[in-house]
Amino acid sequence: MGAAPLLLNPGPVTLSARVRAALAGPDLCHREPEFATLQAGIRHGLLEVYELDPGQWSAVLLTGSGTAAVEAMVSSLVPQDGRLLVLDNGVYGDRMARMAAAHGIEHRVLRQPWGEAIDLAALERTLATEGPFSHLALVHHETTTGRLNDLAPVLARAAAAGARVLLDAVSSFGAEELDFAEGALVACAATANKCLHGVPGVSFVLARRPALAAACSPARSLYLDLSAYWGQQEAAGTPFTQSVQAFYALREALAEHREAGGWRARRQCYRVRMQRVNEALREAGVQPLLEPGASSCVLNAFRLPAALGYETLHDRLKQAGFVIYAGQGALARSAFRISTMGELSEADIERLQRALRTALGHSPH
Ligand SMILES: *Cc1c(COP(=O)(O)O)cnc(C)c1O
Repeated sequence: MGAAPLLLNPGPVTLSARVRAALAGPDLCHREPEFATLQAGIRHGLLEVYELDPGQWSAVLLTGSGTAAVEAMVSSLVPQDGRLLVLDNGVYGDRMARMAAAHGIEHRVLRQPWGEAIDLAALERTLATEGPFSHLALVHHETTTGRLNDLAPVLARAAAAGARVLLDAVSSFGAEELDFAEGALVACAATANKCLHGVPGVSFVLARRPALAAACSPARSLYLDLSAYWGQQEAAGTPFTQSVQAFYALREALAEHREAGGWRARRQCYRVRMQRVNEALREAGVQPLLEPGASSCVLNAFRLPAALGYETLHDRLKQAGFVIYAGQGALARSAFRISTMGELSEADIERLQRALRTALGHSPH
């Protein structure tokens, strides 16, 4: 068997040898003090990624994929008498609206064509005419299209309208700037296996302590009750079995992230990689989906050449050792996506550039 292909899909990512080795750590009972130390270290390390004050913020760890953390945040932090406004400009905004519906949370959805920027005038109108809203939920990096939603103007409008913001930062945490100083932002959800380079299985919510203390009671869910996890984790416990091995991997991934220079260095690393991907695609005549400057450093979406089906492109690149990602929903037949997360060397990126040129029918120069 040859080497496994490198993952250019938006999580899970190709692991470093160091994170992979951490998976083989000792068997450990989640009721033993060694686990409490592991858990406390990760909670602290997550706050350190954005230098958050542990007196104001707290990290809550869950065993589950990113969606589990987002659903725990939405279902736990909007109180029984709360009202939620969901901004939807992609699959993950839509998913939060579906969570609100599933949990019987009173909500409105401000829906926009996928790929478009958030319409601030429409947001202002909705806040003015359909409010008040206790909470507003949006996605930071909408992975559907690669768009990095501009948070500052949304946070300002939410603050002016008295709405607290719940952020899906699953595909941006650890690599993009997040303005935690803005008071309207009360919580964000993310995962181990995207920009932090851990393995799938652990996700987390970072929230302001007062927001956690005011969590919905009675809880809407037993397993996703953030308040229960928080209470027990503050007391060095856990309500349920956690994925111990995924915790080991996340501890190591956080150490690696810190030693490499934190989120700024990771953003710079992804930007350089993405520039190289864009160069190769431009030479092959492939256009980006979004306007310049709108995409995250984590993932870009591109228009699929009319003459080439996605499966053909995917299979050619997989043959060459790279897994890319299809478009979602209405973009399934017209776009493809490439992420720059994970353990990739300079040589890997050069090989990827050559593979892209070849797969798109242009021979390497
Ligand atoms: C990946 C992702 C999620 C969660 O996906 P899982 O498959 O549950 O890990 C949520 N939101 C965004 C923006 C994502 O990119």
